[in-house]
Amino acid sequence: MLKKFLPNEHVKSVLDIKPDQLKEQGVKGIITDLDNTLVPWDVRDAPPVIVEWFKIMKKNEIKVTIISNNKEDRVKLFSNPLETPYVYNARKPLGHAFRKAVEEMKLSRDEIVVVGDQLLTDVLGGNLAGFYTILVVPIVQTDGKITRMNRKIERRMLNWMRRRGMITWED
Ligand SMILES: [Mg+2]
Repeated sequence: MLKKFLPNEHVKSVLDIKPDQLKEQGVKGIITDLDNTLVPWDVRDAPPVIVEWFKIMKKNEIKVTIISNNKEDRVKLFSNPLETPYVYNARKPLGHAFRKAVEEMKLSRDEIVVVGDQLLTDVLGGNLAGFYTILVVPIVQTDGKITRMNRKIERRMLNWMRRRGMITWED
């Protein structure tokens, strides 16, 4: 079971994933995560290097689908300018979004690689669904939800300490 958390390959960035190598491996499609894989979780639009990466893939006839656990607005706003299909509220590691993407891409699973920055969602989901998985280093180490959660906990601790006079400054 632990093996299901291990990616087949590990690269620093999606920019290290090149069409020539994919084609050599018989790959015709990429399913990629969005947050911290393509851009930091709090950046709305794709920067020029990512726009270029999508263009290069298109030129090489490699289909790219974005699958994200994030909300519709976020995923749509990011994907539309790139003219790339997407699935939002994907609930990775569950398989539904992957199945949907495969159907729309009209490729077989062994022609698609799954790319993402998280073992528990992207890699596990991709492996369970039977894809070749590529882990990237998260662009930033924070995550929207984790950060919010941490701030909430931090705030409670600060309030608790403040009530007990352990801290006296205001924030
Ligand atoms: Mg991610």
